[in-house]
Amino acid sequence: SVAMRQDILDLIERLPEEIKTILKAVRDTAEEEGCAVYLVGGFVRDLLLFFPTQDLDFVVEGSGGQFARALIQRMPDGKLTQHEKFGTAQITFPDGSHLDVASTRWEYYSFPGALPQVEESCLRDDLFRRDFTINSMAICLNTEHFGELVDYYGGKRDLQQGKIRFLHNLSFIDDPTRMLRAIRFAERYHFSLAKETLEALYTAIESGVLAKLSVERFTEEILHIFKEINYLAMGQTLIRSGLFKAWFGDDYAWNFNLEDEQDSADWSLNTRWLISISDMDSPVIEKVLDRVILNRSLRDETMTFVSLRESLSNPLSLNEMDALLNKVPKEVVMVLTRDERFSKLLTEYLEASQKINMSLNGKTLIQMGVKQGPEIGKILDQVRRAWLQGRIHTLEEEKGIVRHWVDTPR
Ligand code: ATP
Repeated sequence: SVAMRQDILDLIERLPEEIKTILKAVRDTAEEEGCAVYLVGGFVRDLLLFFPTQDLDFVVEGSGGQFARALIQRMPDGKLTQHEKFGTAQITFPDGSHLDVASTRWEYYSFPGALPQVEESCLRDDLFRRDFTINSMAICLNTEHFGELVDYYGGKRDLQQGKIRFLHNLSFIDDPTRMLRAIRFAERYHFSLAKETLEALYTAIESGVLAKLSVERFTEEILHIFKEINYLAMGQTLIRSGLFKAWFGDDYAWNFNLEDEQDSADWSLNTRWLISISDMDSPVIEKVLDRVILNRSLRDETMTFVSLRESLSNPLSLNEMDALLNKVPKEVVMVLTRDERFSKLLTEYLEASQKINMSLNGKTLIQMGVKQGPEIGKILDQVRRAWLQGRIHTLEEEKGIVRHWVDTPR
C-alpha cells in the first residue's frame, strides 16, 4: 500500500549514510542492468522492527553475477567474490562489513564442459525457500517501486503479532537448523512459535530429524545462540523442548540460569560456554564435546576448566595455586570462582595475585649482573612468590631482594 511504502521510505531515510549510499548504488545498477532487485531477509525484518541491523542481502531477478560485477564498479573500496555455482556473490568492505547478492537465475553444468543449463525462477520462489515468514519479506529497490514491500507469506502480520511461522510443513525436515533458528528468533524478539510451527518442531524433535544435521552445522547454530543477548532464555528452551536431549543423547546438567541475565551481558562467548557446562561432571563434559566441534580456544579452555577443577579439589598452597593459574585465561578462573567449593580459595588467591606488580624481567636482571641462563627464570619465579606472599610491596623492595640474592652467593 501507499501508506506502507511511505513508512518504509521513512525508515530507510533514517538508516546510516553508508547504507543509504549502498542502497542507491544498488538502485542505479538495477536501472543500468534493466533488472529487478530487492532487499531481502533479516535486514527487512529488522528494519520493520526498528532494530539495529547490519548485513545487507539482495536478490536480483536476472543474472546475479553480472549484476554484482556492475555494482562493484560503483563501490571502489569493495572486494567482489563470486560463487557462480550457487548464483551468489559477496562484496566485502575494508571495515569488515559485507553485502550478499543472490539471483533467481541458476546456471548449472550437468557435467564438466557441458553448456550451462539455465533455470529461471522468480522472487516468490526465492522467498519460499526461506525459513520463516518474518524472514521472507522483500523491499523493491527499483526506482519506480523503491520502498514497496513484497510480502507473499504474511511476514508483516506475523511481525506485528509476534509469531515465528514456517512457510510449509516440511520446513524442519528439509533443514533441521531451522529448529534452532526458530528458538533463537523467538527469544530474541520475545515472539512465540505459531501453533503449527510449534507442533512441527516437537514432531521433528521426536522423529529424530536432528540426525540429518552435521556436527559442524549444529555447532554453528549453537554458537549463534550463545552470542545472543538473551541466550540464557534460549538455552532453557533448548532444554525444555527436548532438543538438547535429542542431540546430546541425554538430559545433561546445562546451566542456563536466568538470574545471571544481567551479569551475562558482559560475558564473552567463552565465559558463557564454560558457565553453561560448569555443573556437569567431567565424563559428561567429554560426551558433550563429542557432539560439538569447538574452535581451538573454546576447546582448550574447556579442557583447562575440567583439569583445573580436578586439581583444585586437593589442598593447595598459594604458590601451587599460582603455578596452576598464572597462565590460565581469566575467564576460566572467573568461572571456577563461581563454584562454591573453590570460591573462597580462589578469591584469596586472586586478591593476593592482584598485589603482584613485577617490574623486573630477564633484561633488567642481566643488567643487575645475573648471568644469562636458567637462573633468570628461577629468580623471576622467586620474585613473583615474594609479591604473592606479601613479602614485598614496592618496586624498591623488589629490587632490594633481588640485589640481596645476587650479592649473596648461594
Ligand atoms: P541474524 O539477525 O541472526 O543475522 P538473519 O535472518 O539475517 O538473522 P542469516 O543467517 O544471515 O540470518 O540469513 C539471512 C536470510 O537467509 C534469513 O533472513 C532467511 O531469509 C534466510 N535463511 C538463513 N538461514 C536459513 C535456513 N536455514 N533456511 C531457510 N532460509 C534461511
